Amino acid sequence: MIRLSNIKKSFGENQVLHGVNLSVDTGEVVSIIGASGSGKSTFLRTINFLEKADSGSITIDDLTIDVEKVNDKEIVNLCKKTAMVFQSYNLFRHRTALENVMEALIIVQKKSKHEARDIAIAELERVGLLDRINYYPHQLSGGQQQRVGIARALAINPKVMLFDEPTSALDPEMVGGILDIIRSIAEQGRTMIVVTHEMNFAQEVSDKVAFFAAGNIVEIERTKEFFTSPKKVLTHQFLRHMK
Ligand code: ADP
Ligand code: MG
Repeated sequence: MIRLSNIKKSFGENQVLHGVNLSVDTGEVVSIIGASGSGKSTFLRTINFLEKADSGSITIDDLTIDVEKVNDKEIVNLCKKTAMVFQSYNLFRHRTALENVMEALIIVQKKSKHEARDIAIAELERVGLLDRINYYPHQLSGGQQQRVGIARALAINPKVMLFDEPTSALDPEMVGGILDIIRSIAEQGRTMIVVTHEMNFAQEVSDKVAFFAAGNIVEIERTKEFFTSPKKVLTHQFLRHMK
């Protein structure tokens, strides 16, 4: 369903991704863990071309592209199949919660304003923000802004949702509520790739966990095996360090 093959990326002399491979089945939740600077965000961002990989291929659903030969139309079609939730929310500051969620529905999906509004309201209700739809980002707490970010991603109804440390910018008391929302989305059978530092969350929610180090996936296992009997020394060391 989703297959990343041999994804490589350098920034100047600095090779950040060393031929990453990852397959995710429909409905599967894969968590990516690993030290800061290991390339997790860059990898996630190559999936929707926020960063263009130098080489490799990307399959989402019925579309496979070779990154070196891709054209703009293919990039647009691929991006339409993804939605990302960012660490720093990335909301439009001068748009309300409702307008933030409606934006891609109107601009990218070409829905009518009326239809976009109905979808946006339903998704904002799902994340518990029905009473805040006309608020601007600065009038919302970090947790509420992230709920808007999640509603915006859900509204697109993507083939895969990409989460890049969705709780790491939040005050500690906000984290649990956001993890609960993501957990409920996972339980609804959405295909998701989640970069996270939250080990308990990864353990509870993921079907598989991938450990990322120095620009590659060192180990990927079904969640139970990953935490009970990791095979690689580096994974052992990382998990011991996280406890
Ligand atoms: P992680 O998400 O695991 O913390 P990142 O993917 O953010 O890691 O970063 C991996 C490496 O790539 C780091 O050395 C970082 O400095 C570098 N890097 C990331 N984005 C850029 C960029 N736009 N330009 C130059 N270097 C970058
Ligand atoms: Mg990161």
